[in-house]
Amino acid sequence: MIRKSSIFWVLAISFLLAASCSSPKKQAATLLLYGGPIYTVDSTQTMVEAVATKDNIILFAGSLAEAQEYKTAQTKIIDLEGKTMTPGLIEGHGHFMGLGYNELEVDLLNTTSYQEIVDIVAEAVKNAEPGEWIIGRGWHQSKWDALPEDAVNGFQTHYKLSKVSPDNPVFLSHASGHAAFANAKAMEIAGLQILSKDGIDKFSVEGGEVMRDKTGRPTGIFNERATSLIWKHVPEENSEKRDKAFDLAVAACHRNGITSFHDAGIAKNTIALYEDKKAANKMKVRMYAMIKGGNKDLLNEWYERGPLVDPDNLLTIRSIKLSCDGALGSRGAWLLESYTDRPGHFGHETLPMKDVKETALNGLRNGFQVCSHAIGDRANREILDRYEAAFVELPDLKTNHRFRIEHAQHLHPDDIPRFAKLGVIPAMQAVHMSSDRPWAIDRMGEKRIKEGAYMWQDLLKSGIPIINGTDVPVEPLNPIASLYASISRKTLKGTPEGGYEPEQKMTREQALKSYTLDAAYGAFEENIKGSITAKKLADFTIYNQDIMTIPEDKFLKTEIAMTIFNGKVVYTKSD
Ligand SMILES: [Zn+2]
Repeated sequence: MIRKSSIFWVLAISFLLAASCSSPKKQAATLLLYGGPIYTVDSTQTMVEAVATKDNIILFAGSLAEAQEYKTAQTKIIDLEGKTMTPGLIEGHGHFMGLGYNELEVDLLNTTSYQEIVDIVAEAVKNAEPGEWIIGRGWHQSKWDALPEDAVNGFQTHYKLSKVSPDNPVFLSHASGHAAFANAKAMEIAGLQILSKDGIDKFSVEGGEVMRDKTGRPTGIFNERATSLIWKHVPEENSEKRDKAFDLAVAACHRNGITSFHDAGIAKNTIALYEDKKAANKMKVRMYAMIKGGNKDLLNEWYERGPLVDPDNLLTIRSIKLSCDGALGSRGAWLLESYTDRPGHFGHETLPMKDVKETALNGLRNGFQVCSHAIGDRANREILDRYEAAFVELPDLKTNHRFRIEHAQHLHPDDIPRFAKLGVIPAMQAVHMSSDRPWAIDRMGEKRIKEGAYMWQDLLKSGIPIINGTDVPVEPLNPIASLYASISRKTLKGTPEGGYEPEQKMTREQALKSYTLDAAYGAFEENIKGSITAKKLADFTIYNQDIMTIPEDKFLKTEIAMTIFNGKVVYTKSD
């Protein structure tokens, strides 16, 4: 006799079996990863044992037993062998082509004296064609043990450099990108050698400075917009060099575990280049490009066209970059009170503030995010004011604006809570603190540094996420250095003990989030990336050691072991 309840159970079980057959669990995984700590940055399950992907999408993240159900004979297995995995890292503010060119040009990032720069240029002269320009970048006088004796306003003079390169023009950008250093030949080509006290006005540039010695002669240092006096004589890059730089930048990203990149300000020709690269299937980093805001015709063109949100998630253009002040190193950052080490000097406003308001309004009307560069407290305040005024004027369009301030480095205490209140996201490159904090105190004095410099924890506590990054090529692309700076607030030499203003340190979870989910949020992309969550894009970074538990003094030894982009392994560190 068959009881009714048995029939019920038979039916119920058959139903469940049928249901599980048609459930997505039967999807075949292309990749199965397990065997090491996997940090998801997903608050519903912060760590998982295994991840299964299908093509470029995450199918499953959870227990190894469940993940195995997606495995077929074709599934590629990656045993992490104890290595650590996180979501693919996002460089939240960098200059992609600058990164590529930097790999091609004279790299001065690690120089520690003026003599070293002179030696490197002397070497480059040997290999240069007659008259060929020697372009380099990355020097920083504050990283030198001592300034040359003939320094003017805290900067070296060109004579030593001119001596080793009498016939090749040389132009070397400051690490900040906000100043540059020319030799006599370069200045001669630009028509500046005749500069005397009487000739000064002829070469004055609004928003910039040609530095001069007591006799009125140029020292070789060009600040901010004055760099254009030389730049306009440097021959344009040819397309062969451009392609090479692009490929080098992609490779550098993969080597550094970077799968997405926020490119902070590109002009029309670079937009065209990126579109070509995407069409040629060479865009192997997810590009979130900001349109350079200096060119109003270009902006109008984009307002008409509307945001480009790529269905392939490879090239998205929906934001505008404005450059509103200079850098602290070259005393270009725009301050509320004058520089401690140059009284009476407040830095530069490099864009009329009415343009910020106008761009904010146009951004809201046309669906573009606005990202404004601001380092000094005055620049930060002025921009917050302009954003706020635009929000008041267009209250219906301001929802979900996600406007950003790039750097947000020095803030007046009154302005710190305004970020969260207005929903303005600070994009702060933690490694700048490591490099700049030792000398920033000379520029700003103790009070301003303690109350308003690199205020990560105060901003986070006020309820606004922070986007991290490196501002490459201002700093090397290395995310490990910036993560280390975030959690230690020390220089990369590990000083001082306990870190600078330690109450502003990020926790490791916050730091990882600033390089993943929060950076994705800053690009309206938190639904497709930034955490290891089913249905998101299969981008992962794998490290040789556990960045969430390794003792702080070993953190900088972390290496990128593997990078997975769009479901494919694009980099493996060879032993
Ligand atoms: Zn930048």
